[in-house]
Amino acid sequence: MTEPKVVDITLPFESSEDETAQKKAVGRKLKVSPKRIQSLRLVKHSLDARRPAIKVQLRFEVGIDSPLDPEPTPEIRLPKLSASAKTVIIVGSGPAGLFAALRSLQNGWKPIVIERGKDASARRYDLAPILRKGTVIEDSNYCFGEGGAGTFSDGKLYTHQARPRS
Ligand SMILES: Cc1cc2nc3c(=O)[nH]c(=O)nc-3n(C[C@H](O)[C@H](O)[C@H](O)COP(=O)(O)OP(=O)(O)OC[C@H]3O[C@@H](n4cnc5c(N)ncnc54)[C@H](O)[C@@H]3O)c2cc1C
Repeated sequence: MTEPKVVDITLPFESSEDETAQKKAVGRKLKVSPKRIQSLRLVKHSLDARRPAIKVQLRFEVGIDSPLDPEPTPEIRLPKLSASAKTVIIVGSGPAGLFAALRSLQNGWKPIVIERGKDASARRYDLAPILRKGTVIEDSNYCFGEGGAGTFSDGKLYTHQARPRS
């Protein structure tokens, strides 16, 4: 298995989901034609909303001239829940809520996570009115929604293993 190239790019919010724009920026950074980029795998996504022109920072693994190897499936070993497993109600899917859910599963309890906000992808679009118009969507904003306030942290709260840069 060959180690993929890892590259960081910054794009304006509006074009950050556009694959052509992503390939162009990655190609520029790696000094290769975008046509040679066979696959991009997003490994980190963060928002820089300190100025009115919102920027998105993206880290990709890049397959040049050949596609990336398939990602290994993470293995999580948890006890099987019995039919009589205790139910734990967890309010909020921030780092504390998600960790409580994991601990519950490890202890053989059935967690039910209740979250007032939207999923993480939808939340990104709900931040724009705060910066552009100064209006806050009450249930989906920097603090409320999947991942809690941790979703938009600078990375300290993330625990997945980062690959070294090649
Ligand atoms: C703007 C900002 C930037 C930050 N940046 C960083 C950083 O860069 N690095 C860092 O390490 N930490 C950062 N923090 C701190 C970090 O995000 C928090 O310490 C962490 O998110 C707290 O986790 P939590 O699970 O306790 O609470 P939260 O993350 O606040 O999660 C609470 C969850 O409960 C949900 N909820 C609330 N009320 C209800 C209800 N009535 N019903 C259902 N769900 C509900 C919310 O929607 C939310 O998902 C930042 C915090 C903020 C606000």
